Amino acid sequence: MNEYKFIKDQDPEIYATLVGEEAREARGIELIPSENYVSRAVLEANGSIFTNKYSEGYPGRRYYGGQEYTDAMETITIERAKELFKAKYANVQPLGGAAANVAMYFALMEPGDTVLGMDLSHGGHLTHGHPTTSVNKVFNFVRYKMKDIETGEIDYDELRAVALKEKPKIILAGFSAYSRELDYKKFVEIAKEVGAYTVADMAHIAGLIAGGVARNPFDDGFDVITTTTHKTLRGPRGGMILIREDEEIRKRINKTVFPGMQGGPHMHIIAAKGVAFGEALTPAFKEYAKQIIKNAKAMESVFKNHDIRLLCGGTDNHLLLADVYGSLGITGQEAEIVLDEVGITLNKNMIAGDTRTAMDPSGIRFGTPAMTTRKMMEKEATRLAELMIMAMKSKDDEAKKAEIQKEVQAICEAFPVPEVHV
Ligand SMILES: *Cc1c(COP(=O)(O)O)cnc(C)c1O
Repeated sequence: MNEYKFIKDQDPEIYATLVGEEAREARGIELIPSENYVSRAVLEANGSIFTNKYSEGYPGRRYYGGQEYTDAMETITIERAKELFKAKYANVQPLGGAAANVAMYFALMEPGDTVLGMDLSHGGHLTHGHPTTSVNKVFNFVRYKMKDIETGEIDYDELRAVALKEKPKIILAGFSAYSRELDYKKFVEIAKEVGAYTVADMAHIAGLIAGGVARNPFDDGFDVITTTTHKTLRGPRGGMILIREDEEIRKRINKTVFPGMQGGPHMHIIAAKGVAFGEALTPAFKEYAKQIIKNAKAMESVFKNHDIRLLCGGTDNHLLLADVYGSLGITGQEAEIVLDEVGITLNKNMIAGDTRTAMDPSGIRFGTPAMTTRKMMEKEATRLAELMIMAMKSKDDEAKKAEIQKEVQAICEAFPVPEVHV
């Protein structure tokens, strides 16, 4: 438990919310696949005095003086990022995954140019050109999809056909609701044919790549990777852009992040990124990444044994999408509520080919990064999956739900959120 020594005396209103959130995070099982628990070391850096400092520019080339420690710190963070992902260059200043993507689009394209990305209903992210986003007004977004929803295989023939027709400047790989590995080599081949850049948005799977349990798109020749740092990578809330080797791309990315889009970088967050990358370079993190997948596989088998339809037929990574409406007759929204009642947090999600609406879709999406940080193993993952299914089948049975809630709470108490991750 944090002390919050100064906030407690000075600001009881905010203090109450901090204490409440801390208790909330400890008491329930977090299965939202984009969330995690950072270490106290990451939290310390996140809450550090680097927040006081203006450091517009890059190490060695700043607009203001007094940069001896910020320069040293940002350089360490950059070097660790490069080592983790086998990149020649890294920009650690983007404020989040969305900001990293916007900077990447403006760095590599002119207004009116085309991006070929994963269809949003097949797992692509909002920032990949959803109609409500600003980038959608500036650039033209076209789509590829899965060939087979039951296996998750991408339709690479369609991808190539659209690429030949639309001549995209960027071919974008990456997702927030897709559970299979992509064939990055195919993306690179097609991009070469049409003269496009290859960009992977690995926001969800950065930790899996860092831990060596998912393929690194750079190994197959991708040009650029964008990512968040707070999902499986288990760092502070933020973003990052990595460049495999091209000096010209590096220049354009750096100029677009600052001064193109952002002002002063958030140095306290960059320090926290550095600490998190340090953690990710340890053998303990490799074990963590392996266990994330083992736990997801354990949950997959329970759902399969109960004949619940999983999108893509299962998972290769940290997340699962289940068609609960098709399999159990409960909507995604209802499932989210029932599971919340028993102490399990996840999110409703549209599934490919969904006939329902975004506010009340057919599916749920859940994943294992946060529970694995709490050191839960296959045994707990299996039990949690069973409890989830039981709860969804007991939507209107208050006594049963109370019983399930008790068991979830007992598991949580047995697996407190650890303070140290290495
Ligand atoms: C989460 C996510 C983002 C956005 O990250 P924010 O930090 O929330 O801006 C972008 N792309 C993908 C694929 C994501 O999963």
